[in-house]
Amino acid sequence: TETVADILERQVLEHPDSIALVFESVELTYRELNEAANRVANQLHRQCRVQPDQVVGILMDRSERMMAGLLGIIKSGAAYLPLDPAFPAARISYMLEDSGCRVLLTERVYRGGLTGISPDAVIIELDCLPDAPVTDPPRSSGPESLLYLIYTSGSTGLPKGVMLEQRNVISFNRNMAQVYGLEPGDTILALTTITFDISVLELICSLMSGMKVVLASDAIANNPGRAAELLGTSGVNVVQITPSRLKLMLEEADLSILSGLKALLIGGEPLPPHLFERLKAIPDVPLFNVYGPTEATIWSTTKKLNDADLTIGVPLVDEDVLILTPDGSKIVPIGVWGELCIGGQGLARGYWNRLELTLDRFIPHPVRPGERIYRTGDFGRFLPDGDIQCGGRMDNQVKVRGYRIETGEIEQNLLKISGVREAVAHIVEIDGLNEIAAYLVPDGDKLPLPSELRQRLAEYLPDYMLPSYYVALDSVPLTPNGKTDRKALPLPTGKAAGSATSGVAAYLPPRTEIEAGLAAIWQRILGVERVGVNDNFFELGGHSIKAIRIASAIAKELRQEIQLSLIFQNPVLSSLAAALSGTTAVDQTLLSPLLPQQWYETSPGQRRLWILQRMAPGSAAYNMPLALKLMGHVDLAALTKSISSLVERHEPLRTIFPEQDGLPVQVILPTDGEYLTLVDLSGHTDPWEQTIQASRRAAATPFDLYGGPLFRAILYRTSQDESLLLLLMHHINGDAWTWGILLRELAELYHLNAAGRTAHSSLPLVQYKEWAHYQNNAMASGIWETMRQYWHGALAGANTPLNLPTDLTRPAVRRDGGDSLQLTLPAQIVVQLEEMGRRHGATLFMVLLALLKTLLYRMSGQEEITVGIPVAGRPVQQLEDMAGFFVNTLALRSRVTAELQFVQLLAQVRQTALDGYEHQLYPFDSLVSELAIPRDTGNAPLFDVMAVMQEDWERIPAFSNLAVSPVTMVTGTSRFDLVFNFSREDEGLTLEL
Ligand code: AMP
Repeated sequence: TETVADILERQVLEHPDSIALVFESVELTYRELNEAANRVANQLHRQCRVQPDQVVGILMDRSERMMAGLLGIIKSGAAYLPLDPAFPAARISYMLEDSGCRVLLTERVYRGGLTGISPDAVIIELDCLPDAPVTDPPRSSGPESLLYLIYTSGSTGLPKGVMLEQRNVISFNRNMAQVYGLEPGDTILALTTITFDISVLELICSLMSGMKVVLASDAIANNPGRAAELLGTSGVNVVQITPSRLKLMLEEADLSILSGLKALLIGGEPLPPHLFERLKAIPDVPLFNVYGPTEATIWSTTKKLNDADLTIGVPLVDEDVLILTPDGSKIVPIGVWGELCIGGQGLARGYWNRLELTLDRFIPHPVRPGERIYRTGDFGRFLPDGDIQCGGRMDNQVKVRGYRIETGEIEQNLLKISGVREAVAHIVEIDGLNEIAAYLVPDGDKLPLPSELRQRLAEYLPDYMLPSYYVALDSVPLTPNGKTDRKALPLPTGKAAGSATSGVAAYLPPRTEIEAGLAAIWQRILGVERVGVNDNFFELGGHSIKAIRIASAIAKELRQEIQLSLIFQNPVLSSLAAALSGTTAVDQTLLSPLLPQQWYETSPGQRRLWILQRMAPGSAAYNMPLALKLMGHVDLAALTKSISSLVERHEPLRTIFPEQDGLPVQVILPTDGEYLTLVDLSGHTDPWEQTIQASRRAAATPFDLYGGPLFRAILYRTSQDESLLLLLMHHINGDAWTWGILLRELAELYHLNAAGRTAHSSLPLVQYKEWAHYQNNAMASGIWETMRQYWHGALAGANTPLNLPTDLTRPAVRRDGGDSLQLTLPAQIVVQLEEMGRRHGATLFMVLLALLKTLLYRMSGQEEITVGIPVAGRPVQQLEDMAGFFVNTLALRSRVTAELQFVQLLAQVRQTALDGYEHQLYPFDSLVSELAIPRDTGNAPLFDVMAVMQEDWERIPAFSNLAVSPVTMVTGTSRFDLVFNFSREDEGLTLEL
């Protein structure tokens, strides 16, 4: 009657304070992990009333959160369906659809890409989990309930789900102690993806046995060098691994990382004899060859190999192995090869929704009536001493780098590509490694290029199923009885995959240090003499093992840790070089000066402002005025000269935006004459009042983006010793940060000019136009794809207008009329807010945001509250002194509910803000168009409320002998319904609303 959850709970009771899980710097005790799992389980009950045998998908990166998700599903009594975020979207959709999955645990980042999930499905984002009870959830499942549904490759072209029950795993679990001698206190390294069933041993049986799990992140699991390092440093004494992975690790590290292990389980594919020989050098480590298919739960047989011959040993506890004749009716004699068949307690329930296939593979037991036995498709025989020998496959199922693949699935997907008439996928051994080669007969006279074939296959197949070679054939060789003659297939000729069909890229030598570094690595690892920036990894014979090696070399030689997927997504050398830098920030070397042109492309942000201004040509909403009161005698000549130099230094101050083919372009005008206008109002009776009024009128005068000028400077003189300097630009050419830069420079220039000295600084070579170009490139080449995915996930389905109570009905068309109010929050309250933030790892701004969201929730009664915040958008130092429209907007979306406590909301807001900052470069303006938000003239896209925390730079520098102070310059407009402008002052917090 016992379930997996019962066994797990017993471990929690027995040693609540032992460490159950280590992930990076996080350590969770049995009690803590159990509570995290219970929270998930209780939420699953509360929100979706999950039932036993119901399938709950899990699509998450490897982390302690994923463990809580996995264990949570198990504790809820439901079954889990593991999905790998690295799989193509179409494959994930297929699995969701085929399994009828209606509940999915995932993370916000992956939400956007989801298709194929039923429209009434519940998607739970574990990174935004509401607070659910931590007590044990109600018990609902039994030993016969489904525990997991794992999809394996299917020969007909689509993967098939294997259904495993709780009792299967409970039965297997007895081997942990009885066969492998594992016990509480042992520590296992978990490297295997949850889509492969041997992960159940690492993640679940380990905890059922009271062990400690060291969970490797995706980045580490994909990087053999780092995995070896983790093994060596994390106190692990148990390792389970496939021979392929071990081989890669031993290329990066010494055999000694394995010494001292209590158990090394190696299996999942045949153990190559040379690796076996090598492992004999660590005689004290118990080495187990483990064998078994997914359909019979994790492992079915084991051989302790030390000093023994290479066999797969004997059946595990309560497993039953028979060698049968091809028709499955009779047992063959000892020593005779037949089909290896497995019965006993590990036997799966069958294939999900594939009755015929189930009946074909799970046949009646020839000896025990009423029982079933699974035909593995492996050749096997019993040796006289009782050991079993595995003799390879009878069919076209293969193992490549430890992954189970039906070549038929690759072939079926190749046949879907137009231009392919016949396809055979076959394993070839090259340099001692199994590689997939695709043999293709074209339909018509030409095959698609290998890179195209690959791209099409990658829409559906995971990386490890993609062929490394594409070979064109006139016809498929056949055996006399008309079957494909695989033995007659030619070996691929080597380097360029399918070079026979590929168009060779024009050679262009590396231009930057990163490109040169990468080219050297590619040349070495791909064995190619000369690699240029246009070369494609796959067309040079790249495949996943080589990608792993390249990633290791990049880490060592270029000191950059990368995800393997980066190489797959950027197979062309130049784009990989760009992406390498894009992973963390922006490649400074790519921001190189553009050649002089008549016009330059605009950035996504500029394009949107241009359109907004064109829709409302009379609007001053995007005017950026700055007014300074100057006390003391102004040296007019020095000021005029300083402003001219400023305009000369910064191209945006003289950039206009005419139209080219319906789109705005940037035209940079030459420096021309003087930019400062003097207005003398000192003769008036109330000159200051006159000045304020005149400057406000000037500040609210709309700009003509087509013809310019887009920068104005006016000095209003009210008396000998008092004047007002109004500087004005359009937002399309600068942001608030720009004012900071310009003011600093203006102060310096004025200081020099007033003293009769000249400034000798050279003009900046790289300016905003280069950044616009970089942004467009980054978007087009996919370097910012991760960021794009993040935002599409975070904002999927957003855009509910906020309904604040208003006195008047909201006009159908949004207008920009506005005004501002100021309030001050006393210092003692601000200090407490800051203290609260510190306790929860949040900044004052995050606390203010959470407060603002609470306020908006209360006032609107709506639960989804999205507030916009600006971010500087200047990721590298090179951009910090540039004038231009860099500022970007992040739409931070929260769900505020009545049950939430304030600190929970704060935690949520903090996380959303941190995630947002991490993905801050992706242009908001592009998102708005990509998300296809319905045009609504009454509301702004995504949010109507903006919050800003004023930065320190806004302190005004002194201008030589002049005392300078800011003058609030209102334009009578507001860009949003409400803007909360906070600034932290010594005396407290100022809020300009
Ligand atoms: P999977 O369902 O992914 O575990 O794959 C099961 C198949 O992998 C088996 O049917 C064998 O063909 C192969 N296999 C697994 N372990 C071994 C092993 N230790 N030696 C030889 N082949 C193995």
